[in-house]
Amino acid sequence: MNPVLSVKGVSKHFGGLKAVDDVTFEVRRGEILGLIGPNGSGKSTLFNCILGQLPASGGKVEVDGRDVAGLRPCDLNLLGVGRTFQMLQVFPEMTVLENIILAGQEHKGTMFSRLFGKPDAGLTDEAKRMIEFFRLTHQTNEKAGSLSYGQQKLLDAAMAFMAGPKLVLLDEPAGGVNLTMLAHLKERLKAFNEERGATFVVIEHNMEFVMSLCTRIIVLANGRIIAEGEPEAVRNDPQVIEAYLGG
Ligand code: ADP
Ligand code: MG
Repeated sequence: MNPVLSVKGVSKHFGGLKAVDDVTFEVRRGEILGLIGPNGSGKSTLFNCILGQLPASGGKVEVDGRDVAGLRPCDLNLLGVGRTFQMLQVFPEMTVLENIILAGQEHKGTMFSRLFGKPDAGLTDEAKRMIEFFRLTHQTNEKAGSLSYGQQKLLDAAMAFMAGPKLVLLDEPAGGVNLTMLAHLKERLKAFNEERGATFVVIEHNMEFVMSLCTRIIVLANGRIIAEGEPEAVRNDPQVIEAYLGG
């Protein structure tokens, strides 16, 4: 079976800076892959290249064996690929339900619902199920901006999950989230992975979170992969320790 995501020799240069430098890896279906590395090591840029938000300087990205070169983020959404950004992307003046419906419309709404802004019943039901899944039911009709930061991060993840999702790329989902919410987020990601067979790639600085969530970890430093393997092995890799301390 094809890997769900295949990244082959991807590079991204900004002028003379090799932000991503010849990166190759595969993600198997159902995996939760951690992507870690010091600040500025190229993690977010790599996500941007995978999702078609930035044109890569070289290399190839395949989703389910299909070359996705030239596809836009919305085309990838239709293939069941979603993402979250490092910065929150929720609309604070809209309710939780409206935010999730909007994400669903963007990802896979019918032409009618996109043109007339009216969600079909199926989409509203799905949005409600997603809200329930993330245990935000009590906040359904509250404005997103009135939620705690942790709840907004959950909402952000829920919105990305409306893409399908076959594959979700999460950029620092736990950043700034308190311990209770962190445990909740981790538990929900694991449940989504197990119940729906979703595959995740997770960028995260919180080592405890990454190590306990992910089945495999890739470490970037200066745009290159310097280590790859099971959480324990990676944590104890001298090159990884050096990259963090020296970074
Ligand atoms: P990370 O997510 O691992 O912290 P980034 O991918 O954000 O790292 O950044 C990698 C490197 O690329 C950094 O040196 C950053 O300053 C640079 N960079 C990122 N985006 C741009 C851009 N749009 N233009 C120029 N340089 C960029
Ligand atoms: Mg980043």
